[in-house]
Amino acid sequence: MADKPLIAITGASSGIGEAVARAFSKAGHPLLLIARRLDRLEGLGLPNAVLKKADVRDRAALVEAVREAEAQYGPVDMMFANAGVARLGDIATQPPEDWDEMIDINTKGVMNSVHAVMNGMIARKHGTLMMMSSIAGRQVYPDHTVYCGTKFFVHAVSESLRGYMAPHDVRVIVISPGIIDTEVLDGVRDETTLANYKANKAAIGGGISADVVADLILNAYQLPQRAIVQEIVITPTRQT
Ligand code: NDP
Repeated sequence: MADKPLIAITGASSGIGEAVARAFSKAGHPLLLIARRLDRLEGLGLPNAVLKKADVRDRAALVEAVREAEAQYGPVDMMFANAGVARLGDIATQPPEDWDEMIDINTKGVMNSVHAVMNGMIARKHGTLMMMSSIAGRQVYPDHTVYCGTKFFVHAVSESLRGYMAPHDVRVIVISPGIIDTEVLDGVRDETTLANYKANKAAIGGGISADVVADLILNAYQLPQRAIVQEIVITPTRQT
């Protein structure tokens, strides 16, 4: 039984979520790791980890995952609502199903994740909600139309939620990364959008490692509960 509090991470099967899982595990935390690719979660080989194959669109599955992990390791002290997809593309020609996926996963999925733990945190007057936005939740790009909409949503919700949770001593942190080297663009079908993205990325000397983001998140979490970094904006130095 680990003596540090339980940390829940959605989208822990790759990229930033995986890096955050490794960082918190190294710091001695038990973990609740959620994603659809269970084989990838198992492949991490992390100790004291409850692995749940679940889709963040499935509200009941998230509640059940939290219940199961808390029965083993005590209350979730941080939820990293990280799972997301970037179906970037030309708004006039991309399949509307791409919007549906982004809206459902990046907005409702984030809400489902924080809602699964927020009442417990309110009752305990302790906890951290770490919500994944993007630099695309602060500025817009023509071929990111709906993706930007979903990330602006996360920004707005996190600001409102921060005010709501403050009297309960629960921290709400929003994180806005720029270009990070992950699998996030694997689902982009629009060749022109992908080519433009890769050209822009090359022009700034490439993205940065998910491990850098993970260290920042760990540092923000480790501040005293009475102190909060309200927003983390992390980009490659040349990305403006
Ligand atoms: P990855 O594609 O590597 O990771 C995405 C993660 O989300 C995977 O673990 C995936 O797991 C999970 N996921 C996606 N859909 C669902 C779902 N419906 N239910 C459960 N899990 C899901 O990319 P990143 O690590 O880059 O992405 C993580 C977050 O960071 C996203 O919200 C993304 O928008 C955001 N972000 C990324 C940036 C970047 O440059 N990489 C920049 C700014 C923000 P699985 O498929 O196994 O379910």
